[in-house]
Amino acid sequence: MRCAIAGGGIGGLATALSLHAAGLRDVVVWEATSEIRELGVGINLLPHAVRELTELGLDEALAARGIATAQLSYHTKRGERIWQEPRGRAAGYRWPQYSIHRGALLRVLYEAVCERLGPGRVLTGHRLAAFRDGSAGVDCRVERGAEAALETTCDVLIGADGVHSTVRAALVPGEGPPRWNGVTMWRGVSEAAPFFDGQSMILAGSFARRIVVYPISPTHRARGAALINWVAELRQGEARAMPPQEWEHRGRLEEVLEHFGGFRFEWLDFPAVARAAPAIFQYPMVDRDPLPRWRRGRTTLLGDAAHPMYPVGSNGASQAILDARVLAMHLATRGDVEAALDAYVADRRPATARIVELNRQVGPEQCMEIVEARAPHGFERIEDVISQTELEAIAERYKRAAGFDRDALHARPSYSVAGVT
Ligand SMILES: Cc1cc2nc3c(=O)[nH]c(=O)nc-3n(C[C@H](O)[C@H](O)[C@H](O)COP(=O)(O)OP(=O)(O)OC[C@H]3O[C@@H](n4cnc5c(N)ncnc54)[C@H](O)[C@@H]3O)c2cc1C
Repeated sequence: MRCAIAGGGIGGLATALSLHAAGLRDVVVWEATSEIRELGVGINLLPHAVRELTELGLDEALAARGIATAQLSYHTKRGERIWQEPRGRAAGYRWPQYSIHRGALLRVLYEAVCERLGPGRVLTGHRLAAFRDGSAGVDCRVERGAEAALETTCDVLIGADGVHSTVRAALVPGEGPPRWNGVTMWRGVSEAAPFFDGQSMILAGSFARRIVVYPISPTHRARGAALINWVAELRQGEARAMPPQEWEHRGRLEEVLEHFGGFRFEWLDFPAVARAAPAIFQYPMVDRDPLPRWRRGRTTLLGDAAHPMYPVGSNGASQAILDARVLAMHLATRGDVEAALDAYVADRRPATARIVELNRQVGPEQCMEIVEARAPHGFERIEDVISQTELEAIAERYKRAAGFDRDALHARPSYSVAGVT
């Protein structure tokens, strides 16, 4: 079975590795950019995705490059603690949660693909431009800059080409651009003083104005320092012009300080962290409506191409990795490509649609909205504002919906295909 993957991002590379591990060895990845570059800032991998990467044999590489997140806490805009919970192994999961630079994760996946699949499997500077169902499979046209376009046929085409997917645009004509919710995000990575235990992720504020901060480098941690990923999010309203949807679009420090200068707590001086960033990026918070179907003939969608979601609850990259493993399992174990794609879509489409919807309602971070509404000027004891039972219920509901409820994850059979060497 010749499998072609459009897009060499997290989802595309995880798919190439998963197909290979499931015994499908004729795999090619077309990546539009001229090289695999370590772009982006921090990303979180939840235990359900780390399980998949562990079963792909990447546990040591991840441990060397990511911080095993041990704690997550939500705070008010004044820094008061609303909720704190253990994460990953500290929460009893068999697999850790990792906070990692997107570029480092991409590097781990890319090196594994090159080593296992051999040379010539990831073709950079190859942009899938068009495709159609032919008599022998999916006929694809791949543009290669100045070189003549490649015309080729594959048995299955996987659109892992991100939020502006060409494959999705062909499957859903007239859908238009992603939807913006009026929130602008400034992102950066800074060398700064560690906070808490050096393995904690924190959110502070409420959806209208909040920060997300976590360390991402074990080498910094080993020498008592911290490389800190941060995102500052501000809802300015859809009436304003949307920032460009380009991952490398630069934002300005002055804007961050103007809106987040007050986020100085005893345990974290956020303005100082922002000042230490060598570069600040700006991006709008966008998603798309869940689709009723992800398959046309022998073509399907995966990752952000299938289900772009708000970066709430740390799920974007994790869900792309789960897609990859489930798709590979079905393609390797069912004789018929279309039946395999249907089984994949049946497993993954409803699960991810639920997360897209939950993230629109701010997912597990709902507790921050409730506290801001009930006690906008602060409180003495959090119990007077929201009960422990209510807080626990919010956290557990999201974990179940996003597929990382601990007991369910431990009980679920592996997606690995038995007997493959
Ligand atoms: C440069 C970049 C930086 C990012 N930075 C962050 C970040 O800092 N934090 C965060 O949370 N998320 C970031 N993301 C998004 C994040 O990677 C995804 O939300 C998530 O990991 C799901 O991955 P994906 O593989 O589905 O999509 P992506 O990671 O977006 O990968 C899609 C890939 O497809 C390629 N592509 C697009 N069109 C075509 C085509 N027609 N033919 C061939 N290839 C094509 C793109 O160049 C890209 O490499 C970034 C994405 C990119 C591309």
